[in-house]
Amino acid sequence: MGEAPVFFVDNLQDELSNGFVLKSKGLETSTDVGDRTFVIGGANNDSASSIGVQIYEKSTGKWVIPTVLGTKPKPCKGHSAILLNEDRIMIIIRGSTQDDCIWFLEVDTKYVKEQKKVLGTEVVAWSKGVRGDAEKPIVISGPSGVGKGTLINMLMKEFPSMFGFSVSHTTRAPRNMEKNGVHYHFTERSVMEKDIKDGKFLEFASVHGNLYGTSLEAVEAVADSGKRCILDIDVQGARSVKASSLDAIFIFICPPSMKDLEERLRARGTETEEQVQKRLRNAEAEIEQGKSSGIFDHILYNDNLEECYENLKKLLGLDGSAPTNHKSSPKGIDLPLNHSVSKIDNKILINCETPELGNASKNLIVLDVSSLKGGAPGRTRGLNVYAIDSFSDGLNGIHKLS
Ligand code: ADP
Ligand code: 5GP
Repeated sequence: MGEAPVFFVDNLQDELSNGFVLKSKGLETSTDVGDRTFVIGGANNDSASSIGVQIYEKSTGKWVIPTVLGTKPKPCKGHSAILLNEDRIMIIIRGSTQDDCIWFLEVDTKYVKEQKKVLGTEVVAWSKGVRGDAEKPIVISGPSGVGKGTLINMLMKEFPSMFGFSVSHTTRAPRNMEKNGVHYHFTERSVMEKDIKDGKFLEFASVHGNLYGTSLEAVEAVADSGKRCILDIDVQGARSVKASSLDAIFIFICPPSMKDLEERLRARGTETEEQVQKRLRNAEAEIEQGKSSGIFDHILYNDNLEECYENLKKLLGLDGSAPTNHKSSPKGIDLPLNHSVSKIDNKILINCETPELGNASKNLIVLDVSSLKGGAPGRTRGLNVYAIDSFSDGLNGIHKLS
């Protein structure tokens, strides 16, 4: 027998005899939240690029088409919908075999309430459900030329399967060796400004006369790959991340002196004299803020490179002084077309039929939603998934899907 408690099974029988919690009609579901009904899906139209959402207001008898934010699930062969905490609807996509079967439509979360105020319209926001937790991202800041990129490269080279770099967007021109999509996403200002307006960025700032920003997708993509995300951003960006829902470790890198910083910037040879001067002028204010703003958990001096790298590894627990707790990427959940869904407290029970094994075999998937984290406009993490294999002769086994 596995690690999940057996009480699920007894409770399940009670709950199932009380009937399912959701209502479903064809390809669409309707879910009541207070005096509003959220109708999701129903796009029989193959050309539709995503699942539609409409809201029926019972008090006025009117239909409202909300502004839909976030990355939306693709149209599918149907889904189940289940209300969680009165503020989000969990969507379970039918027949999904990828890691994209669980989605959340946020209807009254903090983020949705804020966006309603900003946009002045009815708002809903999609967020993709992801199993397990991601490790805390690492934000690295410091003046230009201090050695951030060098230290990050050393870390990624020594621990290639552990860390992934958040590829920022920038409006500055690429340097000789820089590759689009690897070092930065080099972008037109108008495109980047539109994406910022559309809520695609976790943070952005004007740095040395150019626009730089971290897209939500850049950070989530690294976490999805099972790696710990490293962000190389300026102090303004670090301040925005600190104020966001992203729980990160903040590290500031200081030069031993302004003279050393100037020599490094010049020796790198990537900036014009004018740009070097601009970066040096900005450096003093950055160092001042880095040391005094209270944003940073750690300040490292990059005098001797090897020593600084060892100190960086030490504070990340990579020098053998602490367990590294490296997590692998969670695998997808396979959900057949035919399944029914019910809810008991914080557990969502998905009853799956396995046609090839006949009626004798049923598979129960339990989604534990008690420790959800994050949410729109990023992913919703912390889903825990258990499978219970049962056959006509009784319960066969319970195991956590890792
Ligand atoms: P940043 O990413 O912070 O702008 P880089 O990593 O590009 O800075 O480093 C700037 C230059 O300084 C590079 O040529 C790099 O090789 C050099 N450098 C980095 N750390 C040191 C150090 N501790 N001592 C001397 N030179 C260094
Ligand atoms: P560079 O032009 O030398 O690559 O970077 C200049 C500065 O921009 C550095 O301080 C770097 O940390 C910062 N930067 C790079 N990407 C981002 C980002 O996505 N957001 C913010 N706020 N700063 C960034």
